[in-house]
Amino acid sequence: MQRERVAVVGAGVVGFSTAVCVAEALPSCSVTLLAEKFSPHTTSDGAAGILFAGEFPDIPMETQRRWFKSSFDHLLDIAQSQHSPEAGVMLSSGFNIFKDAPEDKKPFWSDLVIGFRLMTDSELKRFPDHKFGQAFTTIKCECSSYLPWLEKRFRTAGGQVEQRKVNSLQELSNSYDVIVNCSGLGSKLLVGDDQMHPVRGQVLQVEAPWLKHFIRDADGKTYIYPGIRWATIGGTRQEGDWRLQADDGETKSILERCGGLEPSIGKAKVLGEWVGLRPSRRNPRVEREVARLRGRRVPVVHNYGHGAYGVTLAWGTALDALGLVRRSLQEASPQARL
Ligand SMILES: Cc1cc2nc3c(=O)[nH]c(=O)nc-3n(C[C@H](O)[C@H](O)[C@H](O)COP(=O)(O)OP(=O)(O)OC[C@H]3O[C@@H](n4cnc5c(N)ncnc54)[C@H](O)[C@@H]3O)c2cc1C
Repeated sequence: MQRERVAVVGAGVVGFSTAVCVAEALPSCSVTLLAEKFSPHTTSDGAAGILFAGEFPDIPMETQRRWFKSSFDHLLDIAQSQHSPEAGVMLSSGFNIFKDAPEDKKPFWSDLVIGFRLMTDSELKRFPDHKFGQAFTTIKCECSSYLPWLEKRFRTAGGQVEQRKVNSLQELSNSYDVIVNCSGLGSKLLVGDDQMHPVRGQVLQVEAPWLKHFIRDADGKTYIYPGIRWATIGGTRQEGDWRLQADDGETKSILERCGGLEPSIGKAKVLGEWVGLRPSRRNPRVEREVARLRGRRVPVVHNYGHGAYGVTLAWGTALDALGLVRRSLQEASPQARL
């Protein structure tokens, strides 16, 4: 009997998470991941990789909590295993600080991270411009290590990898039974999604091994995230800005703003600058459609549009995408035991 063929388009954190989930859960299928760019050249590669989420307006809170929890638990297992250094996944503690106290003092994920609490007045004294803060331990997942690690795991599960730009899903319609679209910002063209837009982010990598805690201004524009090899400091959030080159003025502003939160940043050596375009949308698209491609009805599972929270939500949405792939295969072949 011929094996069912699944294509996953995209080699960022969403694509590789989805490909691993499918290949490991459905060993009877042949799974191929196709992408134009691989690590270290994806958006995911430069993300700070802190597990932290904002709210999407039209996704039920229960679903958002499930995505966060599944990802957190999956990465916590890795952080607490011998795989942690190779996978680039570690625990990270620190502060999210506010100039004015927010209405909602406890975000929806506050009971899903470790040890969430409000900061004390004495802790806040370090940040004279800020009046309120949250302290917690979360996870930092560095995709420049995590993606190669996931790729190895995918290949061990029998997955195949192909470097290729897909210009239209029609190209895949004769070779695959299910197509999974994890092409991030590429979905703007690949599936003509006009909601997709970039939110540009510029960060610096600095050598500052003395820093052990993250500090994040709750406006999301200024942050310091110590990591395994360097600290990532940032940033910018520029809606609709497609520029991929670093901007000197922004580099200066990042150093000044981060120095305002943590003066020792002034002594850190700048190792590099990086710009990425967050694949943004009002809500991530995690759903299935049956497309008519070259006269054939082909199930297409979409999993893209994670914006600023792709590392945070990748594993959770990948599990949902797996459910949609399973359903598609069952509908195509009801007697299959998947
Ligand atoms: C400065 C910055 C900091 C960030 N920090 C965090 C953070 O701390 N925590 C967090 O959770 N998130 C963070 N993010 C967001 C995170 O980086 C993204 O949400 C995530 O990388 C999206 O992953 P993805 O797999 O959807 O997309 P990508 O990583 O962009 O991957 C898309 C893939 O699709 C492929 N592709 C696209 N079109 C085609 C095509 N036509 N044919 C073939 N292949 C195609 C690409 O080549 C690539 O392989 C940050 C982003 C930026 C810019």
